[in-house]
Amino acid sequence: MSKTLIIGAGGVGRVTTFKCAQHPGVFSEILLASRTKSKCDIIAKDAIAATGHQHISTAAIDAEDVPALIKLIRSFQPKMVINVALPYQDLTMMDACLETGTHYLDTANYEPKEEAKFEYSWQWAYQGRFKEAGLIAVLGCGFDPGVTGVFTARAAKHHFDEMHYLDIVDCNAGDHGKAFATNFNPEINIREITQKGKYWENGQWIETKPFEIGKKINYPGIGARQSYLLNHEELESLVKNYPTIKRARFWMTFGEEYLTHLRVIQNIGMAGIEPVMYQGMEIVPLNFLKTVLPNPGDLGENYTGQTSIGCRIKGVKGGKERTYYIWNNCSHQAAFDETGAQGVSYTTGVPAMTGAMMVLTGQWSGTGVFNVEEFDPDPFLRKLRANGLEWEEEFGLDLEM
Ligand code: NDP
Repeated sequence: MSKTLIIGAGGVGRVTTFKCAQHPGVFSEILLASRTKSKCDIIAKDAIAATGHQHISTAAIDAEDVPALIKLIRSFQPKMVINVALPYQDLTMMDACLETGTHYLDTANYEPKEEAKFEYSWQWAYQGRFKEAGLIAVLGCGFDPGVTGVFTARAAKHHFDEMHYLDIVDCNAGDHGKAFATNFNPEINIREITQKGKYWENGQWIETKPFEIGKKINYPGIGARQSYLLNHEELESLVKNYPTIKRARFWMTFGEEYLTHLRVIQNIGMAGIEPVMYQGMEIVPLNFLKTVLPNPGDLGENYTGQTSIGCRIKGVKGGKERTYYIWNNCSHQAAFDETGAQGVSYTTGVPAMTGAMMVLTGQWSGTGVFNVEEFDPDPFLRKLRANGLEWEEEFGLDLEM
């Protein structure tokens, strides 16, 4: 029985709140706080109606204001903060957790607003302080990063003596009927995918131009989809935690229509993160673009199709080479029917709740800052399956990689 503070009231915040509310035995009291309190109120009302949870309250918070966060945490006294706001707020929330003796979990690693660059160094630097405080910080516990790390940990624990090649493959074969929309926060999403590609090979990082490397990959239940090599944050921790990996890559599907829109957005300067003057006021073009794009949290209603995300691994077991594929397919419609949010929010919010449940029930323990692959994958994957994200695995197949 624990009090939990969820920060962020977008699509992921909605799913996380619903899923926590389904487990009142673990999440006995929930406070949902975000910049805009009215959004928290709508989610709380819907979650109470759907689950019957009796103790969900809401609050307004600017999660970049550490004293305000400390005040909110001290007044509610949660055991854990689940950060499903934006990566810009990771460090301020970690500071507030340290100050108040509260565990921390997020789904995306820190990036500074003024530079489109994500890496773990800023958050790994909190290792000593979380250890000293006897607290746990779980980094990147969505789907990717998140479940992809746990899938890799399962492969290492049960199926390989050494893993050599890791390809994380992420397909969204859904159709939301809009000309252009992103599936999570547009600003964070566009910053991520317009960066250079990057992968790990033979002990070093290799950079590519954005979308330089692409190929068709077959996804279970979906078929062949054009997929592009991207830089993705979990690669950094996975090659560190599994040093036998010779090559690690991340692939994501993009349709022609999406890429054409993205090219235009970039060519006309709307993906820019440097402030420009507009009618006497400073605005950041990408911030402005977010305000006119569809809200990812509202895409669910007519969203058809499914996502398919997994890890394709080659390595050795008992002296013999083997291949292994572990994946989840998630239906946008089923996610919407249960929570009112689409599949990408669902595949992020369910693992966030599951990771928090692992910590609050003592199944993931320790002190310090952890990436998810450092914990026991088994209890997490059992609960993930029980909470709507079924996963499957297959051996000895052609990985196509
Ligand atoms: P949204 O933009 O829909 O929601 C973000 C929420 O955070 C909004 O409610 C927003 O408030 C709130 N917020 C923003 N700034 C502040 C602030 N300073 N203080 C308090 N609240 C703030 O994003 P999503 O729900 O789509 O995504 C949430 C997070 O999940 C992101 O960090 C994203 O990177 C991550 N993610 C991770 C994935 C994974 O697999 N690991 C996949 C998808 C997403 P307001 O409503 O006022 O704007």
